[in-house]
Amino acid sequence: MLKIKNLHVSVEDKEILKGINLNVNAGELHAIMGRNGSGKSTLSQVIAGRDSYEVTNGEILYNGEDIAEWPPERRALEGMFMSFQYPVVIPGVNTTYFIKAALNSKLKHLGKSELDAMDFLSLIREKLKQVGMDEKYLSRAVNDGFSGGEKKRNEILQMLTLEPSLSILDETDSGLDIDALKIVAEGVNNFRSADRSFVVITHYQRILEYMDIDKIHVLMDGKIIRSGGKNLAQELEEKGYSWLEGEPA
Ligand code: ADP
Ligand code: MG
Repeated sequence: MLKIKNLHVSVEDKEILKGINLNVNAGELHAIMGRNGSGKSTLSQVIAGRDSYEVTNGEILYNGEDIAEWPPERRALEGMFMSFQYPVVIPGVNTTYFIKAALNSKLKHLGKSELDAMDFLSLIREKLKQVGMDEKYLSRAVNDGFSGGEKKRNEILQMLTLEPSLSILDETDSGLDIDALKIVAEGVNNFRSADRSFVVITHYQRILEYMDIDKIHVLMDGKIIRSGGKNLAQELEEKGYSWLEGEPA
């Protein structure tokens, strides 16, 4: 579903990603771990198509297609989703309208009929329950006055409603207390299926305890220096990242 080949990315002439290779098949959940500043958010934003990053080499294939020229909205319509490490507040834009407009754009793109207010409401109520959010959030502006944990749940709410094929979750676990963390992990677990893939970015291994991971990759200084199974997370928890320093990519 996602194939990244020798990806090099720069921001303002500074090289941040230095040759990333990653292959995520349909149905798989991969975790990307690494210290702050290693390039995790850069990778997720480049996959989502943010234009302030310059891809200087390599390519990103989504279902076999090179998406270099796709703007972010096309990526979203084609089934990609990214949850932000720092979700933005959008004052004046009501949460219900925001998610409904996004969902209806996707439905339209797929040639399906759009949902009216009543149908949307019953759908979103169901999804709200899954992330443990109260209905009152719907009437507020997007993330306006939401706590850190509420913003992260709102990201997962959007994922569950938009039903993407590929979900990139950038540190969705940071700022969550243990109960919210379990709810988010549970939300992802219930949403998994043979035709959906996930890239979960985190720098703590805690959330990974609640998820069934296929592969873990360690990102350091813009390169994946180690890939492995679930026990790699345990090893990182015990030894920190420094034991991998100097490891060839
Ligand atoms: P992580 O998510 O792993 O903490 P980031 O991808 O956010 O890492 O950042 C990697 C490096 O790239 C950091 O040194 C950061 O300062 C730099 N960087 C990221 N975005 C920008 C930007 N827009 N302008 C300048 N430097 C940036
Ligand atoms: Mg980050």
